[in-house]
Amino acid sequence: MNIGPLFAASAALKAGHQVTFLDCTAEDLSIEDCLDRIGRESPDVIGVAARTHLVNEALRIVRHARSRFPKVRTLLGGIHATFMFREMLGECPEADFVITGEAEVATGQLLDALTKGAPLNGVPGLIWRDGAELRVNPPGGPLKDLDQHRPAYELIPNWDLYRNHINGERSAVVQFSRGCVQKCRYCSQWKFWDTWRACSPEVFADEIALLYHEHGVRYFLMADESPQAEAEVWSRLLDALISKGLKDAVFGTCARAKDILRDRELLARYAQAGFRLMLLGAEFTANKTLKTVNKEQRLEDTALAVKLIQDAGMIAMVDIMLGWNNREDEVVQTLENLGGLSADYVCFFWTTPYPWTDSYKELMAEFGTAPAYDNWNFMTFFGKGVDQKRAERELVKFYVRYHFSPSRFFKGWFSGPLPRRKLYRQMFWLGVRRSLVQLYPWLSALLAPKNSRVKAMHYCDPRHRWLAGSNMAGES
Ligand code: SF4
Repeated sequence: MNIGPLFAASAALKAGHQVTFLDCTAEDLSIEDCLDRIGRESPDVIGVAARTHLVNEALRIVRHARSRFPKVRTLLGGIHATFMFREMLGECPEADFVITGEAEVATGQLLDALTKGAPLNGVPGLIWRDGAELRVNPPGGPLKDLDQHRPAYELIPNWDLYRNHINGERSAVVQFSRGCVQKCRYCSQWKFWDTWRACSPEVFADEIALLYHEHGVRYFLMADESPQAEAEVWSRLLDALISKGLKDAVFGTCARAKDILRDRELLARYAQAGFRLMLLGAEFTANKTLKTVNKEQRLEDTALAVKLIQDAGMIAMVDIMLGWNNREDEVVQTLENLGGLSADYVCFFWTTPYPWTDSYKELMAEFGTAPAYDNWNFMTFFGKGVDQKRAERELVKFYVRYHFSPSRFFKGWFSGPLPRRKLYRQMFWLGVRRSLVQLYPWLSALLAPKNSRVKAMHYCDPRHRWLAGSNMAGES
């Protein structure tokens, strides 16, 4: 579920326009299917948002849509389009507009202007064509009041399309805050969102309760970078969620180790509010690399945060970036260091340098050439210094060693509160299935989730989802 278009759609609805939401990934639509659906709706404007690995697919849709429906106006948005609009508009003359940055205000204003035939130069952050020229409107700045801009979940026609890998429950991607207070050099979130902001905890809790009661959602994945950044706001959110009494709701969220250490006395309330899956962005196991990338944390902080999370009855996952130094011995060393972390699960992904990040140039100088955007899925390594196949075989062996170690196995299966044990077991089997398919691809017909419901919770191309040893990589 890509939540961005639901925010933009909400702004369009508020401005009095009609919107149909089409999730091509969730519905597993071919371009032909997608065009048929567009034809049935006969829209004036098609807005397409896509993450980098799906950008080529998005542009194909725009080209075909323009050729089949010549009068339709085409609009692109999202992080990739924000930073790469010149490249996209250069490659795709059929794309008329790009909205850069947060799209809510611009979407409503653009649709109003198109309806009235008004000038476009006042629409914030809009890139538009003026004959052969590209006009770049000044950005509108970060949205101040997120309560006024909530996702239009009511446009989702079938919630059964959104079920998670772990237990098959109906799931939703939700967003409480935007932005991050850190500035890691490999990350673009702080650049895109600019400042950290949150909606009011009470508004967010109402939204969660509505999804729970009206749509049967039980699994909430927060699309936030650092939702706990402000202690007082986060504490109010926990109270607001607890007050809703949503007994079997499960929340998964990212967290910074430093926020977990700060909240060590509060972690029981995290669990009481329904937080079960805490994903810590450990990224590297070498403190030297953490310092180089401006991560503002040490491996020891992550190790302590893992323990505190587990003691509070939640699952602690860490994610690890491989290949930063383009060296195979670094991968081996990382796996060795992970033994001391004691996380319940480890997610791996390959270093994927985005052109708009601070570390892009230095990484590409090391890696050489980048593959086509279709492969920018965190599961394809750009560099030549690591034999990816061999490294992933090592990852599978690591995974088996790590998760079948007697202490971790018994702790996960038999200790801690029931919700933690239950989730641990569900994730364990998911990991076993994935690893078996990684080792023996012919088993995929038997073990791989085939239905579109599973693909729907996946931000990576489903063809690449079987990264060894990973339980959560690719879900967002
Ligand atoms: S803490 Fe996470 S979200 Fe924040 S800048 Fe670093 S990597 Fe990005």
